[in-house]
Amino acid sequence: MKVVDMHCDTISEIWYSRDNIGESEYDDLGGPQELRKNRLQIDIERMEKGDYFMQNFAMFVNMNNGLDPLECALKLIDIFYEEMEKNADKILPVKCWADIEEARRSGKMAAMITLEEGQVTKGNLQYLRDLYRLGARMMTLTWNHENDLAYPNLVSKDPRTVYPFHPVEDHGLKEKGIELVEECERIGMILDVSHLSDGGFYDLYEHTKKPFVASHSNARAVCGHCRNLTDDMIRKIGERGGVIGLNYCASFLEEGETKEACRSRVSFMARHARHITNVGGMDCLGLGSDFDGISGNLEMDECSKLPMLEAALMLEGFRESEIEKIFNGNVLRLYRELL
Ligand SMILES: [Zn+2]
Repeated sequence: MKVVDMHCDTISEIWYSRDNIGESEYDDLGGPQELRKNRLQIDIERMEKGDYFMQNFAMFVNMNNGLDPLECALKLIDIFYEEMEKNADKILPVKCWADIEEARRSGKMAAMITLEEGQVTKGNLQYLRDLYRLGARMMTLTWNHENDLAYPNLVSKDPRTVYPFHPVEDHGLKEKGIELVEECERIGMILDVSHLSDGGFYDLYEHTKKPFVASHSNARAVCGHCRNLTDDMIRKIGERGGVIGLNYCASFLEEGETKEACRSRVSFMARHARHITNVGGMDCLGLGSDFDGISGNLEMDECSKLPMLEAALMLEGFRESEIEKIFNGNVLRLYRELL
């Protein structure tokens, strides 16, 4: 089953492994990593084994790193294109629907740039447009920090605890965030509500007309983490024609006393998939692995193992045509409409 995945942090991990930024999810990768074959969760060789067609590569920037966020995004975009050139026999960078069709025709995989941390624009519409011109086609307003645009849902300051979680309902988009959201819709940058506060979700919903995504979030009714979506949010994304990317992170799949106690299992993913499609409809769910941004107790721990999820969805009672929608059809339909 062809895989289309809306979120991974692989390019950031490649950067950390080269420049010793020191933010890695991994203890020791044994030196600089490359996209072709590496010790991360995603590489081109294992994507082929997992039957991938398309991967979004997030330019993930942690504002705590003390560096200029825009410069970080530009650095990551440089690494992305450098890797695309080295692997042009296998994978094509895509910016529009015609590029995606071209990748399919030539039997190659497709790769799209997304931005994870709206502060990479510095709240400046010109920088937003410049990043679009460099190929970015999807953007979260925030990561886990407040920025010039918006507020995230609060993530516990103690890294050992996951619960209780704190959805932030009273802080939404700032003025600059509203301006930016409207410009994103105008130029064709797909808006991504993952990480955004609950208040921000509703502000974004009010100020937009087009479908938007939650590229890597699950269902809060199944696992009560603040990074997951309420049923009302799932319904609103579905009604708008947007897509939610199923996240494989343990603490977004299963509740636990501590982060370490949570497990990532394909059967839990299937449970979230069932709930999300029950609430939002069969057209609102895709994949958003979060590979190379997640660690811990993972059953499906790298990209060649995606057939495990296919099997779990079948066990959950999804028909093959429905699994196809989750694995690729729904996200590709959205791209055909928006790109
Ligand atoms: Zn994320």
